[in-house]
Amino acid sequence: MSSVQETVLEINLNHLTHNFEYLKSKVDPKVKMLAVVKASGYGSDAVIIAKHLEKLKVDYLAVAYAAEGITLRKAGIKTPVLVLHPQPVNFSKIIEYHLTPSIYSIRTLHEFISSVTLAKQQQYPVHLKMNSGLNRIGFGKNNLETLIKTIKATPAIKVEALLSHLAASEDNLEKEFTFDQIKVFKELANQIINSIGYTPILHQSNTSGILNYPEAHFDMVRSGIGLYGYGNDAKFDQHLKPIASLKSVISQIHELQKGESVGYNRAFIAKEFTRKATIPIGHADGISRQYGNKNGFVIINNKKAYIVGNVCMDMIMVDITTIDCQEGDEVIFFDPKHSAAQVAEYSGTISYELLTAISPRVKRLVIEDN
Ligand SMILES: *Cc1c(COP(=O)(O)O)cnc(C)c1O
Repeated sequence: MSSVQETVLEINLNHLTHNFEYLKSKVDPKVKMLAVVKASGYGSDAVIIAKHLEKLKVDYLAVAYAAEGITLRKAGIKTPVLVLHPQPVNFSKIIEYHLTPSIYSIRTLHEFISSVTLAKQQQYPVHLKMNSGLNRIGFGKNNLETLIKTIKATPAIKVEALLSHLAASEDNLEKEFTFDQIKVFKELANQIINSIGYTPILHQSNTSGILNYPEAHFDMVRSGIGLYGYGNDAKFDQHLKPIASLKSVISQIHELQKGESVGYNRAFIAKEFTRKATIPIGHADGISRQYGNKNGFVIINNKKAYIVGNVCMDMIMVDITTIDCQEGDEVIFFDPKHSAAQVAEYSGTISYELLTAISPRVKRLVIEDN
C-alpha cells in the first residue's frame, strides 16, 4: 500500500534544516545567509519554506518579483526580503510592504528614487546589482559614474548592499572566468565604496559558489538551500538532501492485447501483451508533454515504469508489464533516492524546470519529525 492516496509534493523540513546548517558550516560564521525562495521556493511552497528558515534565523530572504515578496509579508514573514528583479510598476508596493529592491539600471534607480520621494521616505535600503559577466541585469563600468552621482545626490535611498551573480560557479572548466567575475565585482564595489564613503554588505556567491569559491563569500551568500533538488553539481549529491518529493498512486490498471492503443491520438500502440497503469497527474500539474512517449518515467516498487503515449491534462499512463504492482500502490516521480535531476535530464531538461512547473493543484504535504 501507498503512503499517499493522491498526487502530493512532500516537503521535508528536516532536510531543509540539514541543508541550511550544512551550507552555513561552509562559510565563515560572520558571513550572512540569504535564502532564495523565488518561484514558490523553487516549486515547493515559499511560505512554508520561509517560515521554517525564519525559525532557523536566516539573515535574508530573496524572491524574484514583488508579488512573491508581498505573499511572504502577508503570511507574516518579518525577515528582510530582497526582490531580485523588480519592475518599476511595483515600486510603491515594494515600499508599502518593506521589501528591498535590487536596483539594476539607471532607469530603475531614477524610478525608485521617485517612488521613495513620493512615499515621503528617506534612506530607504536598496541593493545595487552589478554585472560582473553574466550579462543579464546589472550596472557596469559604463554607467558607474552616473550611478554614483545619482546616489550621492539623493537622500531617498541608502545602499545597504552591492551584489552580483556568478554565471558558471558549478563548472570547473570556467574557473578563470569565475575568478574574473569576482575581480570585476570587487573593482566595481571598491569604486562605489570609495565614492559614497560607507561600506555596504557585499554578496556574489550562489550555492555552487559557497562550495567552490570561498573568495566570493564576501559578507553574505545566497542559496536556494537545495530546494531545486540539487544535481547541478556532483559535489552536492553527498551533502545536500533533496527537500521535495513528488509522489502519486496507481489509479487503475489495464491489460492490453497486441494492437490496442493508449491515450489521445493513439500515440502508443501495444506491440505485444502490455500492462499499463494510469496515474492521476498530467500537464496541468506540471508534467509537461515532453515526458510522454517514453521520454519520462516514474518509479513503482523500485522499478522504472516509462510513460507511454501522450501526457494528458490530468493523467499519465505508464508501462508496468514487468512490474509487480497493484491499484493503490505508490508511484514516485522523484524523492531523495530518485533525484528530480535524473528524471529531468532523461527528458532533456533540468530539475529547476521540473520543480518550478509543479502547479498549485498538487497538494503540498509537510514532513517533519523532531
Ligand atoms: C536563483 C538565484 C540564486 C540562487 O542560486 P542557487 O544556486 O539556485 O541556489 C542566487 N542569486 C540570484 C541572483 C538568483 O537569481
